[in-house]
Amino acid sequence: MSDCIFCKIINGELPSAKVFENDDVLAFLDLSQVTKGHTLVIPKLHNETIFDLDADTAKKLFAVVPAIARAIQSEFQPKGLNIINNNGSFAGQEVFHYHLHLIPRYNETDGIRTKYISHQADYDQEDLKQIASAINQAVQI
Ligand code: 5GP
Ligand code: ZN
Repeated sequence: MSDCIFCKIINGELPSAKVFENDDVLAFLDLSQVTKGHTLVIPKLHNETIFDLDADTAKKLFAVVPAIARAIQSEFQPKGLNIINNNGSFAGQEVFHYHLHLIPRYNETDGIRTKYISHQADYDQEDLKQIASAINQAVQI
């Protein structure tokens, strides 16, 4: 897409610090470097969100992620690594070209906090079965 900054990075119209590239995927450092080594992994095919991503593109994208994660791990020895993917502006997405954030974790104050608030008490087993069944019936593979 002509006005997409990540497509421009893929085409070489905008500069980037490349981490890995093959025919289908590009990985490059996120400008913000939330933590050292913060890497974005993107399909070369322009898809906006997980809702648009086709299975073949997803397969090619995720195929390279473990190797990139291991490379970050071996170079910088983080204590952990979060993989984050924001879909839609409500979920914090700012660039509408599908991307995974690989964010190595070094300590409690390293720039990212992931905390889930559990609502387990609001759902019994029957509620969970109904929710799961609704999703299951809507899955189209
Ligand atoms: P999102 O909020 O959409 O999940 O993340 C978009 C990310 O893209 C942000 O973390 C931001 O720092 C990064 N970003 C935005 N523009 C550029 C750019 O031109 N180059 C690089 N390398 N990263 C960018
Ligand atoms: Zn794009």
